Amino acid sequence: MRVVFFGPPGVGKGSQAELVAKAMDYNILSMGDILREEIRAKSTIGVKVENFLQRGSLVPDELILEVVDDFLLENRGKGVIFDGFPRNLHQAIALEQALSRLNEAVSFAIGFVLERDEIVKRLTQRRYCNRCNAIYNLTSGPSIKPGVCDECGGELTIRGDDRESVIVERLKVYESQTKPLIEYYSGLGIYRPVDAGGSKQEVYSRVMGVLDAHHA
Ligand code: ADP
Repeated sequence: MRVVFFGPPGVGKGSQAELVAKAMDYNILSMGDILREEIRAKSTIGVKVENFLQRGSLVPDELILEVVDDFLLENRGKGVIFDGFPRNLHQAIALEQALSRLNEAVSFAIGFVLERDEIVKRLTQRRYCNRCNAIYNLTSGPSIKPGVCDECGGELTIRGDDRESVIVERLKVYESQTKPLIEYYSGLGIYRPVDAGGSKQEVYSRVMGVLDAHHA
């Protein structure tokens, strides 16, 4: 099964992708993580995309699609969760076309829904491990030792784009560019909204409810 996770920043897509991937033995394409790793490595792509991430704007589609093509070939025939891709209509159509060339298709597009105040709260409390990408929240899911990653001992930091001014921009980008995916995937009959409020475990049960319905 190939499943798209989308929604505003801060809804917990990445955390849910990890839980679901572990339970179902799927691979994850986390576009944000891939881009941040390229930036850290100062690769050709990393240098090109750094400014876009800092500002909270979308990276140009041609750079994103280059990354996706490699991933799709490597993951042919495997279960995949797309986290943070597609983020606009052009990317959604490109994904559909790339998959159909491989005789594959998106099974579901799960759209996470959360109110704006809660989004801003979650993003400003988010902490992030620079070394292994693990995600924490100061109130709902802190690390055991403050400032230190439970997984790898790395230092926890605030992501550069989790500052309030950049958050506002990312929410705008979501409204204008990503939200139209609701209509697109509804038209294909595969859109499934999921309430992203409550604990990680509660949201996880809702997501698994959608995926289990597919097997039933
Ligand atoms: P969040 O979902 O919390 O906003 P991500 O880690 O998914 O965070 O993405 C961070 C940033 O990476 C985005 O604000 C954007 O600049 C860039 N990015 C990620 N995915 C895409 C994409 N599919 N298309 C264009 N830019 C992207």
